[in-house]
Amino acid sequence: MTTSARKTFRWWPVDHGRHAIPGELQPGDTGETLCRHPVTYLGIEPSKREWLYPTCQVCYERARDYTHIALAGHHYESVLPAQRRTEQQPQVTR
Ligand SMILES: [Zn+2]
Repeated sequence: MTTSARKTFRWWPVDHGRHAIPGELQPGDTGETLCRHPVTYLGIEPSKREWLYPTCQVCYERARDYTHIALAGHHYESVLPAQRRTEQQPQVTR
């Protein structure tokens, strides 16, 4: 049984361009963008300026066959506040 039949990718700023990197890269890993550019995935959220880099057309075309997954940092940010809220308001039922 193959659980990862469909490949994943996420956008990542590399060399003043927005490229797609394999979703299996973990923070600190080195790999290649979909256009074969060497990349180190840091796992941190890129700056707003970096998100404005022009999208790499090669990556854009190849990423169509991939499933997009959010950056680890984005996922973390979206999950944490809700968890905190429930922790701060313990249900006291008698
Ligand atoms: Zn690219």
